[in-house]
Amino acid sequence: PYVIAEPCIDVMDKSCVEECPVDCIYEGERKLYINPKECIDCGACEPVCPVEAISQDRRVAPEHVDFVEDNRRFFIEV
Ligand code: SF4
Repeated sequence: PYVIAEPCIDVMDKSCVEECPVDCIYEGERKLYINPKECIDCGACEPVCPVEAISQDRRVAPEHVDFVEDNRRFFIEV
């Protein structure tokens, strides 16, 4: 699945929410989250993010690897 990392915090532009064909991007308190069980890996959200916070989990930048777990955990707690 795709994941949303640190650049989204306190930005939450939401361009990605409009792009996602399966509506699997959800709003948290300070950032957005992609539900890994619902994401179909289409990649539509990645180019529209103005702060480049989105990437596929397998290609996530080293400094953002914790956000793979962060996205997953968000959907366990709610
Ligand atoms: Fe939605 Fe596609 Fe982005 Fe997954 S990759 S969150 S399905 S727009």
